[in-house]
Amino acid sequence: MSELRASSLPLLMKCTGSLTLPYDYTKSENAEKGATWGTLLHTWVQTGLVRGPKQLCNLFEKALDLSGMRGRRLEFWPEGGSHEGEVSVFVGGMGPGEAPEIEVTRRAIKQEGWVTGHYDYQHWFLDGELWIDDLKTGKYYPNPLPGSQGWNPDLDVGENRFPQDPKSAQLKTYALAISELEEYKGDVWISVTHWPRLPLIYRHAPPTRLWHRWSHADLMGHWTDLKVMYATHEANQTESSMILDPGDHCRFCPARNACLVAKEFE
Ligand code: SF4
Repeated sequence: MSELRASSLPLLMKCTGSLTLPYDYTKSENAEKGATWGTLLHTWVQTGLVRGPKQLCNLFEKALDLSGMRGRRLEFWPEGGSHEGEVSVFVGGMGPGEAPEIEVTRRAIKQEGWVTGHYDYQHWFLDGELWIDDLKTGKYYPNPLPGSQGWNPDLDVGENRFPQDPKSAQLKTYALAISELEEYKGDVWISVTHWPRLPLIYRHAPPTRLWHRWSHADLMGHWTDLKVMYATHEANQTESSMILDPGDHCRFCPARNACLVAKEFE
């Protein structure tokens, strides 16, 4: 078993067995294009430059104009912040009776017992509060008309059926790690900025941003939750009865091809 990626935590918290099955990271052509869009967009956010395959650059230039984002980069990601950081949090290996001690680093430690991840942007507000932003470029799933396949009666038509979550375990882990590294004990603001590649109507609109604020006590509680999750994950490696919990999240599970209880989805 190697390190856990912070991006896999939201799925792991829903289905603890999901990391026990073999992952299939084979990318379809569409997924490859999605990854290229993500790289292009992250480069522009960090530098203001449009660089990549010519055809995609043309599509991105068009999106910048139609969305009105061409002149708004620094409004969303102000100067003075830092882009692209790496963190690792140690969540395993504590024996009975040992005093809890948080270990975090600004590099990826690819070893058992560590959760590693990359965050997109860190900034300090003028009042001294910490802000961390994560940029998501995955597809937007608009809720269809009532009665259509995939319609969710709890959402308005056009609302995202699988919205980004600023309270996700992935982003909370970044908040925990960075506040510890900065020796900061105040509230941490998390934003998740979603600029999807598809459908086009959402690529051609400005990105949406959702916010959440965590207290230092919340983040300490999260560190405990991570340790419990890791212990469960470790137990799943050795027990024949791993816990598989299917649901809508199976759509995003890289192990679904090997899973016999994966939920069907359209
Ligand atoms: S496909 Fe669903 S049930 Fe199966 S491992 Fe993944 S999340 Fe769990």
